[in-house]
Amino acid sequence: MTLFSAVELAPRDPILGLNEAFGADTRPDKVNLGVGVYYDANGHVPLLRAVREAEKARLEAQLPRGYLPIDGIALYDAAVQKLLFGAASPLLAERRVVTAQALGGTGALKIGADFLHRLNPSVPVAISNPSWENHRALFEGAGFQVVEYPYYDAATHGVDVEAMLGGLAKLPKGAIVVLHACCHNPTGVDLGTEDWKRVIESVREHGLVPFLDIAYQGFGDGIEADAIAVRLFAEARVPFFVASSFSKSFSLYGERVGALSIVTDSHDEAVRVQSQLKRVIRTNYSNPPTHGAAVVAAVLNHDDLRATWEAELGEMRERIRTMRRGLTQRLAAHGDFGFIEAQRGMFSYSGLSSAQVDRLRAEFGIYAVGTGRICVAALNDGNLDRVAEAIARVI
Ligand code: PMP
Repeated sequence: MTLFSAVELAPRDPILGLNEAFGADTRPDKVNLGVGVYYDANGHVPLLRAVREAEKARLEAQLPRGYLPIDGIALYDAAVQKLLFGAASPLLAERRVVTAQALGGTGALKIGADFLHRLNPSVPVAISNPSWENHRALFEGAGFQVVEYPYYDAATHGVDVEAMLGGLAKLPKGAIVVLHACCHNPTGVDLGTEDWKRVIESVREHGLVPFLDIAYQGFGDGIEADAIAVRLFAEARVPFFVASSFSKSFSLYGERVGALSIVTDSHDEAVRVQSQLKRVIRTNYSNPPTHGAAVVAAVLNHDDLRATWEAELGEMRERIRTMRRGLTQRLAAHGDFGFIEAQRGMFSYSGLSSAQVDRLRAEFGIYAVGTGRICVAALNDGNLDRVAEAIARVI
């Protein structure tokens, strides 16, 4: 017997397992559509010009490396708030929003989950069916019971809004509802403005606690348009949480740049909530890392750099849309794949079955997640024809 004799091998992360299998595949024309990052037209993770310029200035300034405040860089937190709620938001003028820099969107969800668990550990957390696979694990890890609300409708390749509202109505008062604010991962299908209004009505009627996850702002229809859910919740005067991330929109994955924002009912509430959120952070990792947030703050608070970033984000968004259109067109002879073009963000629920995904891998060296999720941002002019032909062969 040793201390670790009883430790069982944890199940392999299915997506990381896919990446390992892809790495080991020796076929030269293999394609990995299983990834969760944006690749440029040459198949690389981009280093944005705005980021490069901000980094150069930072390097030249040769700054000391003291600790950041527990809730991060104040200028960063303020920039996040403007991006999410709009610079003219009354919420910001009334100082009702608490924002803390976090370790990516994941870190934001985690400190939000820990905060909520201290507030009320006995309520369930409801996530969409399906959802980003880490949502369940993360909230269960924080001590919550996790349930699902209906979301995706495979028959229509859309959201089953009625079923979703029915699911929300069954949740107990105080239940936490995790909502993808835009570019739903893994399906690529989002709620429309009118749907959001109905969801907000339901949240209010049933006393639910909305926790918005916005990891792809700017990848759907644009920075402002993608914030529509956040803006509608802000108008509704309900308390809510927002986990946001710059991993994708700044291509800063490994720098872990995100934020948690909590919307409260008054500045007095905000002060108290902030003090408790800081305790959660302090006992998790004390304070966040500097580099990524300093770069993002410099870009967002500097007119020229910001314009460069917005243009680069626009290029990424347009490239994804071009790939969506290209795939839809190439598959048109084999059925109506217009839903791929209509979906938003990096991912698409392609409708491929797990058997078809297996064939893509075995016969063509094309890797996708077993659920049929493909990363459209991994397509480019060099692999689009091949991918479309292979899909046409397996369907
Ligand atoms: N939420 C969703 C829906 C995501 O897809 C992701 C990342 N793939 C995250 C949160 C976490 O992002 P980050 O890398 O910033 O932790």
